[in-house]
Amino acid sequence: MLPNKKIREKSKKVNFPLTKEKINLIENMIKYIDNSQKIGFNGKEGVGIAAIQLGFLDRMYYINAPSSDGQPVWKEFLINPIIIKKKKLAALEYGEACLSVGTEIPGQEGLVHRNYEVTVKGYSYLQKKEIQINKVGYQAIIIQHEQDHLDGILFFDKIDKFKIWEKKENEKII
Ligand SMILES: [Zn+2]
Repeated sequence: MLPNKKIREKSKKVNFPLTKEKINLIENMIKYIDNSQKIGFNGKEGVGIAAIQLGFLDRMYYINAPSSDGQPVWKEFLINPIIIKKKKLAALEYGEACLSVGTEIPGQEGLVHRNYEVTVKGYSYLQKKEIQINKVGYQAIIIQHEQDHLDGILFFDKIDKFKIWEKKENEKII
């Protein structure tokens, strides 16, 4: 959690086979997000989490996100993910938030400029194989938010400080 600077560090590649400790961490990340979406959960609801958010510098994240554009809910746990394709511009209408950024931190308001469509590849912990997946809209935004955590980048780094709610040319507002 900010102001702890560890969230700004770059995470390291995960080695295989996965150790017991790593599997434990993965299961905890999945539980954390799934529980946060349950009715009556006392805390911030999350749609994704990277290992660094629990204090571990491992290149992996979990996503459990609803759809925009009529896609079903998507759950995936990616290890050593890489974004291999990005297309078109997009931002969420009301900006973004993060489980690791407290509400007292200034400068969080504004459009977070990202891509509308991304293709990501990596090892799926849920499917136990290398996968490549293409996502658009809200789920693509979540992928980019989590992928940024692996490199110490936070969502408000992508807000234009001088024109916080100004849409870019050809940017889709979701
Ligand atoms: Zn975050």
